[in-house]
Amino acid sequence: KSKILLASTSEIYGDPAVHPQTEDYWGNVNTVGTRSCYDEGKRCAETLFFDYYREHRLKIKVARIFNTYGPRMHPNDGRVVSNFIMQALQNEDITIYGDGSQTRSFCYVSNLIDGLIKLMESSDDFTGPVNIGNPNECSINELAEKIIAFTKSTSNIIYTSLPENDPVRRQPDITLAVKILGWKPTVELDEGLNRTIDYFSKLILSVSNINKPEPPLKYSKKSVLEIA
Ligand code: UDP
Repeated sequence: KSKILLASTSEIYGDPAVHPQTEDYWGNVNTVGTRSCYDEGKRCAETLFFDYYREHRLKIKVARIFNTYGPRMHPNDGRVVSNFIMQALQNEDITIYGDGSQTRSFCYVSNLIDGLIKLMESSDDFTGPVNIGNPNECSINELAEKIIAFTKSTSNIIYTSLPENDPVRRQPDITLAVKILGWKPTVELDEGLNRTIDYFSKLILSVSNINKPEPPLKYSKKSVLEIA
């Protein structure tokens, strides 16, 4: 009689032809591209959840999570917020893929968690899918500029090739979450980025302290990756 949450994703909308994305939009996904294993995997998971709901009355909750960021992200997982902050803090080149005009809508992690808890606490007849994200849309160029300004970095921006099937625009319509869950995001991008920058600054500092020769090392040398 367990209730089960599917952490689904905005990726199920693929490169969306509808903007902003509402839950009733079926998506625009390439089945054979480099991103497809993730997109189609999540789409198939949603299908299975709903089959189990119909066949076995399993108590399902399906959240479609839009780009989430915040403290405790992995510094090397390749996502844009962690990449740009790590690059900016170390005055390395900021790598923008494509021309940076593509957009995402970034949700601060604690807001996402609140949304998921509210979803789990909602009545059993509410299955979702429901979008959980922050509708404040931002281009990748704007994101880079903000991070450079907040970190007072001397990094340069470099433009490299855009990965295949990289969505052009992404923004959640959260009308359903507001109405059914009484949820909406409260931490705006500037504040959330500053909290995340603070986290990564401390992470880098703790690694550089460990790497100092004096006083005698208590720990073996660790990379940022291992510490995280
Ligand atoms: N991106 C970028 N530079 C990076 C990492 C990502 O320009 O160092 C771009 C990426 O091409 C995409 C956007 O930032 O357009 C968000 O990428 P991420 O992997 O964080 O999320 P997703 O594409 O899954 O929404």
